[in-house]
Amino acid sequence: MKRTLRAQLSVGFAFIILVTVALISLVSTLLINREFENYVERQQLAFSAQIAEGIAMQYDAAEGWNVDYIHGMGMYALNDGYIVKVYDASGETVWDAEDHDMELCHQIMQEIADRMASAGRTGSFTVRSYELVSGEESVGRVDVSYYSSYFYTENDFDFIRSLNVILLVIGVLALVAAVCVGILFARKIARPLARVTEIADEIAQGNYGARVGRSERTKELEELSLSIDNMAEQIEKQEKLRKQLTSDVAHELRTPLANLLAQLEVISEGIFQPDAERMQGIYEEVQRLSLLVDDLSKLQHIENNVLDCTREDLFELCRGVKENFAAEMKKRGIECALTGGQTWAVVDKNKIRQVVTNLLSNAVNYSHEGGKVEIFVGTEADTAVISVRDEGIGIPEQERELIFERFYRTDKSRNRKTGGVGIGLTIVNAIVKAHGGSVSLDSEEGVGSTFTVRLPLSGRE
Ligand code: ADP
Repeated sequence: MKRTLRAQLSVGFAFIILVTVALISLVSTLLINREFENYVERQQLAFSAQIAEGIAMQYDAAEGWNVDYIHGMGMYALNDGYIVKVYDASGETVWDAEDHDMELCHQIMQEIADRMASAGRTGSFTVRSYELVSGEESVGRVDVSYYSSYFYTENDFDFIRSLNVILLVIGVLALVAAVCVGILFARKIARPLARVTEIADEIAQGNYGARVGRSERTKELEELSLSIDNMAEQIEKQEKLRKQLTSDVAHELRTPLANLLAQLEVISEGIFQPDAERMQGIYEEVQRLSLLVDDLSKLQHIENNVLDCTREDLFELCRGVKENFAAEMKKRGIECALTGGQTWAVVDKNKIRQVVTNLLSNAVNYSHEGGKVEIFVGTEADTAVISVRDEGIGIPEQERELIFERFYRTDKSRNRKTGGVGIGLTIVNAIVKAHGGSVSLDSEEGVGSTFTVRLPLSGRE
C-alpha cells in the first residue's frame, strides 16, 4: 500500500526531530556531567588544601598541638569523606582518623566506593600529603586521603539526578512539541495538494468549470494551483471551441448543401433544365464547399503541427506573395506598393507566406475597384513587422474582435460576392501565435483597414 505524503512527511519530521533532540540531550548531558565532575574535582582539591591549612593553624610553638580542635576538624572532614592523619615534625602521629574510629572510617570509605561504583565510576582512595608550616617553620605533615580523582556526595548525586531528569523532561517536551508542529506542517502541505488532486479528478471527469481558486502562502503550491486553474481554463476554452466548431461547420455546410439539394431536385424532377447557368450555380456552390473543407484542413494542420523554421527575408517573401496577386489586382485596377526593406527573421516560410496571402487576399477582396493597397516590411525593436493596408470598406468597431473567430464574416462582406468562408483570419492568428507573435488591427469603416503582424526576429522563445 502506498503511504500518504502527510504520513511520510510526519514520519520524516518526527525522525529528524527525534535524532536532533536525542543528540542535543546526549551532548548536553555529557558536557554538563563532565563540567560538574571537573568542578567537584577542583572543589575537593581545594577542600583538602583547606584542611591542611586549618590544621597548621592549630600548632602553637609554646603549647604544641591543639589536639581537640584537630579532632573536631578531622571528624568533620571524615564525615565528608576525607580521612586525615596528622604527624608532627619528628614523624610521630598527632591525630589519626583511623586510630580514632577505624570502623567509621571503613564504613565511610565503603559507602563512597559503593556510591561511585553504582554510578559506573571507578577510582580509589589516594593520599595527598601537605607540609604543615607555622610561621616560617615546618611543624609536621598531614595526609588527606579521599576517593580520587573525585567523588560524589549524596547531595551531588541528587543534583546530577535532578539535572538529568530536567534534561529528559525538556527533551520529551521538545519532542512532543516538534512532532505536533511537524504533523501540522505536513498537514498544511498535504491539504492543498489533496485539493488540487480533487480538482484535477473533477476536470478529468469532464467538469471543466472546476477551479482550485484558492491562494496559498507557499509559493510552489500557489503556482501549482494557478497552473491547474489555467489548464482547466484552457481545456474549458478548447471544449467550447470544439462544440462551437462542430455547430459552426454544421451551420456552414447546411446552407450550401440545402441549396445544392434543392437545385438538383428541381433538375431531376424535370422542372428546370440543367442549362449552363444553373450548372455554373451548382459548380460555385460545390467550390465554396471545397474551399471551406480546404481552409478547415489548413487550420487543423496549423493547430496540430510544429513549425519548420528557417531564417528568411520577409521582404522577399512578401514580394513573392504580391506577385501571385498581380493578375487579379490588375483586373480590378488595384495598385499595390511594397515598402520597407530587407528583414531577416526565423519563421516557418510556408506558413508566413499563408499569413501574407490571406491578409493580401482580404485587402484586395474588400478594396474598391481602383483602390490602393500597401505592404510594409520592417523591424521594431526586436520584432519583425509586416503590415497590409487597404483603402477598402473597413471594419465596424464592434466586429473588429470577432473577425478572428472561425466563420465570422461582417454583414457587409456577406452581402458582397467576394471573400471566403470566414476562416482566413483565424488561420492568420493561429500561425502568428504559433510563432510567438501577435496580430493587431486598425480600421475605420468606409476608409480602410491595416492589419499588422509582429513576429520575434529570433523565432519562438
Ligand atoms: P474571409 O475568408 O471571409 O475573408 P477572414 O477570416 O479572412 O474570412 O475574414 C473575416 C471577416 O473579416 C471577413 O469576412 C470580412 O468581413 C472581414 N475582413 C477581413 N479583412 C478585411 C479587410 N481588409 N477589410 C474589410 N473587412 C475585412
